[in-house]
Amino acid sequence: MKGFREECLLILRGVGVLHRLSPWNLLAKCVRSVCNAAQPFVSLYLSAAVIDALAASAPRKTVFLLAGAALASNLFLVLLSKAMDTVNYRKWNQFYLRYNFSIGERAQELPYDRIEDVGTHLMIKNIDDAMKIGNYGLIKLHSRIPLLMEHFLRVCFALGFILSAILQKAAEPQTPLQRCANSWWADGLLILLILLSALACMFANKRIALRSYDHLGRLSKSNRIFDYYLNHYLDSHRAGKDIRLYRQDRLILDEIEQVSRRSTRIVDHMNKGIFQNSCWILITNFLLLFYIYLYIGLKSMTGVFPAGGIVKYSGGVLQFASAFSEMMDAFSQLRANTPYLRNYFQFLDLPSAGQKSGRRQAPSGGSCRIEVRHVSFCYPGREEYVLQDVSFTLEPGEKTAIVGRNGSGKTTMIKLLCRLYDPTEGEILCNGVDIREYDVRAYRALLGVVFQDFRLFSFTLGQNVAASVEVDREKAEACLVKAGLGDWLRREKRGLDTWLRKDFDENGVEISGGEAQKAALARALYKNAPLIILDEPTAALDPIAEAEIYEKFSEIVGGRTSVFISHRLSSCRFCDRILVFADHTLSQYGSHEELLAERNGCYAALWNAQAQYYG
Ligand code: ADP
Repeated sequence: MKGFREECLLILRGVGVLHRLSPWNLLAKCVRSVCNAAQPFVSLYLSAAVIDALAASAPRKTVFLLAGAALASNLFLVLLSKAMDTVNYRKWNQFYLRYNFSIGERAQELPYDRIEDVGTHLMIKNIDDAMKIGNYGLIKLHSRIPLLMEHFLRVCFALGFILSAILQKAAEPQTPLQRCANSWWADGLLILLILLSALACMFANKRIALRSYDHLGRLSKSNRIFDYYLNHYLDSHRAGKDIRLYRQDRLILDEIEQVSRRSTRIVDHMNKGIFQNSCWILITNFLLLFYIYLYIGLKSMTGVFPAGGIVKYSGGVLQFASAFSEMMDAFSQLRANTPYLRNYFQFLDLPSAGQKSGRRQAPSGGSCRIEVRHVSFCYPGREEYVLQDVSFTLEPGEKTAIVGRNGSGKTTMIKLLCRLYDPTEGEILCNGVDIREYDVRAYRALLGVVFQDFRLFSFTLGQNVAASVEVDREKAEACLVKAGLGDWLRREKRGLDTWLRKDFDENGVEISGGEAQKAALARALYKNAPLIILDEPTAALDPIAEAEIYEKFSEIVGGRTSVFISHRLSSCRFCDRILVFADHTLSQYGSHEELLAERNGCYAALWNAQAQYYG
């Protein structure tokens, strides 16, 4: 019972979200359901009245009026239903987009450590899979709620007809047949059979729902593997080179074949179970129908109903039989859908980054003084510390380089400065205030960052640089020139309007790794943030482009506070300060000359290794 209550609450919450995402869509669907449910019963009722009027030789006017009412009501209900269909077609796309957008928007609100977490990743994947394998989740609710409503109304109308048949008795039953048709046990047996049929349907449908969810879960795993190989590798030009050179297509296709065989077995097993349970529903429905026909037949044979009653009640019985099993089917599909809804709501209920951060607005004044105080950090779910007791200060306008061996924690330090993670111990202050106290978006507005694994998207170059649809063209061009893409911009006919990648524009360009890195640098400059952070900003650049960037570094970053990670130690010489990370802590800091003077220090070792290599 507790499970059933929880399922109902989930469905109700889902209806609330549907209403918020597209209020007219759900309403239109419900109006359509009422029309569809009422139409056959209004027809039956008025047709029976016409037949009875004819049989009773009623005045022609009455007969015409009744026939006209039957036609008019039919036409009205059909037209209203079609009109609601039109509204639905128009609103469906809007709903579908809003639904997908809401998932993307929610994912963006999550703290970054959540996004890296495998559990969250699986949650998002499940929502996506649920949509792909059978429109499960909110979309299933969107289609099944109006359907359930329609069939529920049909069952109610049909029960109304059946009840009125039960209540009609012969005035004085004479023959044994009449007595039998009017006896209380004939009525009782009818009610008992309806209840038994309902129970059998509910039981079988629950089994179908559980079985479907179990199988769909297993199918989703197979689909994920299928999706991964097919979408990420076989049809992706980025993986095409490796696949062709190592002939990995055979390996991948073999895996896909095995997965599809597994999926077919799962689907076969699921269908077998559904078939067995559906047979039970059909058998009980058949018994019920058989009895109802017998019951109505006896009553009409013994003259309890006029001729119209036979049409009305036998039609009602037919409606009941189909509506009842369809209602149970819609209901079981809603129940099978609740685990997907649960997953969707668990995702929606994850705490957002904003909830973990303060409300303070960004520090004003255009400059940033960062103070890192005794910061230690271990990644969520890990025990080992990646950074231990790190302290340093970035003064406004100062240029700082971070160097160190792979895995010493440099990028992690940058992630902490960007508030992608919070320190496990210690604190980071910006203009004297713990950065956790700032509104996270307002704080991040202070940072222009180029990560090692930066991403440019399939938009125009200008939109990528401005990170917006609106582009200040003069400013974007100036930033691209500063970042070293001036020649490229002059060469490319469409300039800022050049579409990056060919995903959406066949004339789009695939820029090289170095050009992309320059575009990412331009994006950081365009933001005009007081703190610039660059993680290996020249890793993909050729030696001349790299030299140009470092020669003009001061001009590029202007008076902003800047931090960059580099493995090219010669490029750090012009910095005000160099921080050397080793063994997960800040082992040295100072100017190039000061650090070289410490002959046994880590910096001198790194420098000598590189100098010897270039020497
Ligand atoms: P660096 O930038 O100095 O090469 P990183 O800061 O990237 O080093 O990584 C420091 C250590 O943290 C490495 O041992 C790395 O494996 C680990 N690490 C990096 N990212 C994660 C993560 N998301 N989860 C767990 N460990 C991580």
